[in-house]
Amino acid sequence: MINVSKKCIGCNKCVPVCPFAAVQLIDKKAVINEACTLCGACVQVCPVQAIEITREEGATRDLTGHKGVWVFVELMENHDKTKHSHKIRPVTFELLSIGRKLADELGEELAAVLLTDKNAGFEKELGAYGADKVYLVENPELYEYNTDIFSTAIIALTHKHKPSAMLYGATIMGRDLAPRVASCLYTGLTADCTGLAIKDGLLLQSRPAFGGNIMADILSPKSRPQMSTVRPNVMKLAEPIYGKIAVTVREDIKIDKSLRRVKVLERKLIHDKGSVKIDEARIIVSGGRGMKTKEKFKQLEEICQLLGGVVGASRGAVDMGLKDKAHQVGQSGTTVSPKLYLAFGISGAVQHIVGMKASDIIVAVNKDPNAPIFNVAKHGVVGDAHEIVPKLIEALKKQK
Ligand SMILES: Cc1cc2nc3c(=O)[nH]c(=O)nc-3n(C[C@H](O)[C@H](O)[C@H](O)COP(=O)(O)OP(=O)(O)OC[C@H]3O[C@@H](n4cnc5c(N)ncnc54)[C@H](O)[C@@H]3O)c2cc1C
Repeated sequence: MINVSKKCIGCNKCVPVCPFAAVQLIDKKAVINEACTLCGACVQVCPVQAIEITREEGATRDLTGHKGVWVFVELMENHDKTKHSHKIRPVTFELLSIGRKLADELGEELAAVLLTDKNAGFEKELGAYGADKVYLVENPELYEYNTDIFSTAIIALTHKHKPSAMLYGATIMGRDLAPRVASCLYTGLTADCTGLAIKDGLLLQSRPAFGGNIMADILSPKSRPQMSTVRPNVMKLAEPIYGKIAVTVREDIKIDKSLRRVKVLERKLIHDKGSVKIDEARIIVSGGRGMKTKEKFKQLEEICQLLGGVVGASRGAVDMGLKDKAHQVGQSGTTVSPKLYLAFGISGAVQHIVGMKASDIIVAVNKDPNAPIFNVAKHGVVGDAHEIVPKLIEALKKQK
C-alpha cells in the first residue's frame, strides 16, 4: 500500500522520478495511480516524507504468480583504452549455469536481467549459457553502475514480471545492489551462497555459518523473489551451447537521473604491473604460515613468474604480514578455481579449503603428513617447503 499524507507540499519532485508515470500532481498534491509498482523511487526523493509504503506481513503476502529464475548480468569494463565498452563478468555465466538447473527443476524460465547504456549483442553469450530470455533496459543513465539507478530499474522489473528467484554475483557490485533491492522489495537475501537447489518448490540456499564449521540451509517460504548472492568460482560453469540465442525483451523503464545520489567525480584505473586478478588466475602459487619469512615467501613469486601464475596466501600468512589481504584465499578472502593450485606450508583449515577446493589440480607441500590439506590435494609432497621451493625454481628454470 502507498499513501500520500497531508505533509505533501506539491513540490513535484516525485513526478519525474517515477519509472511508470504513476504519480501526478493534482491540486498541488501528489496522487498515485494504479500503474504504481511500489518501487519506492518517489519515497526516496520526497523532501518532507509525505509518501509512505506500508508492507504486508509475510504470512499475508500473496505469492501467486511469481515464476521464473532471474540472473543479474554484471558488466565490467573492457580494458581497451581506445573506446568505452563493457563485457560480461564471468560470474554471470556461473549463475546462469546453476540458474538453468534450478529453472529446469521448477519447470520455469531462466531470464537474464541486463541493464546497460549500450547492448553489444550480449544475448548471444547469455543464451549460450542457458538464458531463455533477456530483459534488456537500455538507457544512457546506465553507463556505469549506480546503486539508486540500478536498484530502481530492477525493482520496477521485478514488480512487473514477478520472478520467483533472483541470483547475483557476490562481487563488489552484487553485494551492494542485492541488499538494496531486497530491502526495497521487503524480501530476504542469503549472501555468499555456496550451494543452490530446489526443495519442495522453494530455493534451498546453502552457505557456511559459524566460521565455516557448519552449513546453513536457508529457505524463504514467505516472500518473493527468493534472493541470493553467490561467490565467483563456486558454481560449476556449464558447457556453452553457441547458437542458442536468448529472446530479448526490451523494457522501456523511465530512469530519472535525479535519483542518482552518488556522483562519480573521477575514475582512476590502477594497472598493477603484469598482475592478474586472483579470482581469474589459471595458476595460483599459495603460501601459508609454514613459509615463515617474507624472503622465503618471495620465492613463491619467482615460481609464479616461471609458471605464469598469481601468488595466493592463507590467512595465517596474511596475519603474519607475509602477503597482503588482496591475495588471501578462503572464506574471508577470495574464492578461486584455477587449473592448478600449489599450496606450500598451508595446513588446510576448513576456511581455507572452502576457498580453493574447486581448483582442478591441487598440489600440496607440507612437512606434516597428517595436514588436512592432503585430503583435498591430488598430489602431495611431505617435506620441507624451504628445501623444495628452491629446487622447483631450479627445475623450472632449466625447462625454460
Ligand atoms: C571466520 C574465519 C574466517 C577465516 N577465513 C580464512 C580465509 O579466508 N583463509 C584462510 O586461509 N584462513 C582463514 N581463516 C583462518 C584458518 O582457520 C586458519 O587459521 C588459517 O588458514 C591457517 O593458515 P596456515 O595454514 O597458513 O597456518 P597454520 O595452520 O599454522 O599451518 C601452517 C602449516 O605449515 C606447515 N609447515 C610449517 N613449516 C613448514 C615447512 N618448512 N615446510 C612445509 N610445511 C611447513 C605446518 O605443518 C602447518 O600445516 C579463518 C578463520 C576464521 C575463524
